[in-house]
Amino acid sequence: MIQLRNIIKTYENKGQSIEALKELSFDFKKREITGIIGYSGAGKSTLLRCINLLEVPSSGEVIIDGVTLNDLDSKELRETRKKIGMVFQHFNLMRSRTVAKNIAYPLKGSGLSKKEINERVDELLSLVGLEDKKDNYPSQLSGGQKQRVGIARALANRPNLILCDEATSALDPETTISILKLLKKINKDLGVTIVLITHQMEVIKEICDSVIVMEDGVVKEEGDIVDIFSRPKAPITKRFLSSIFNSNKIESYLENILVREDEKIIKLAYVGTSTEEAYISRISRDYKVDASILFGNIEIIKETPIGNLIIKLKGDDKNIFDSIEYLNKNKIYPEVLKDGRKII
Ligand code: ADP
Ligand code: MG
Repeated sequence: MIQLRNIIKTYENKGQSIEALKELSFDFKKREITGIIGYSGAGKSTLLRCINLLEVPSSGEVIIDGVTLNDLDSKELRETRKKIGMVFQHFNLMRSRTVAKNIAYPLKGSGLSKKEINERVDELLSLVGLEDKKDNYPSQLSGGQKQRVGIARALANRPNLILCDEATSALDPETTISILKLLKKINKDLGVTIVLITHQMEVIKEICDSVIVMEDGVVKEEGDIVDIFSRPKAPITKRFLSSIFNSNKIESYLENILVREDEKIIKLAYVGTSTEEAYISRISRDYKVDASILFGNIEIIKETPIGNLIIKLKGDDKNIFDSIEYLNKNKIYPEVLKDGRKII
């Protein structure tokens, strides 16, 4: 378990102080992939660097497996840091060294023999799929290949935690997916805990188990990815999700739909195997409302289908009210988007 307790980080810059982190506390579960999402300037990179004390918090504690890192002396901290790999947006490779030498770099002073280092490098090259690039220089590699080298280097000391700062932000969408798959494989096969920061919900969607949403140095929302994707609460989380669920497009589409006095447009959120079909036929049958489907979308998050269904209900007020109650009780989370009786 990685625990952050009351982390505050204030930068002093030319007499000005910037509060990058305003007291944050949360836990990262081991062997999971946790995503931290936020817009530029939210404090993500600062937070990530605080986890291995590369950035010393102004106050607060970082506790990894019961050990408070703030209490360690510099030698102990160096040893602990070896077990925490870092992956960067711009790869941070050494241009004058070959791929193999870049990967072997963190093993300097490890006490491993030349042969052992070579074996480790070969094993890592095969893990990241770059066996044939061993003697190439970074300039001869594509962005995705460079990041594979960055990941292999981060794994050199067999860490149990990897911190990724926008690891895919410099890559095209296809390469992004392949790098995320590699990170997932490392998490699954080697049991490495991964904390990654990003400004893209697509990245979170692809591989994370849980997510932390940050804004202006504070956590706005956190939780299991299926919960966050199916029932986001904070406005910023909804904003991040709107690209995935087309929320903005749905809003403008609905603006042009005429809603009569006895009609309401309702959004239903469904998770997993909730069989919305049966619920809908049930409300039409039991409450005598007509239900027509206007729009539906679906995403598969961690093998769980999650989606929104937008329907128009037509009937008398009491029956529509009862239908909504019924859907609520069955955890379909109805939300009235447009009401023919009033403007919302
Ligand atoms: P993010 O990674 O989410 O874009 P950062 O952690 O880089 O955010 O930055 C958070 C805030 O802290 C920003 O306002 C940024 O300008 C400020 N900041 C970051 N690093 C420094 C620094 N070394 N000195 C002064 N201010 C900094
Ligand atoms: Mg950053």
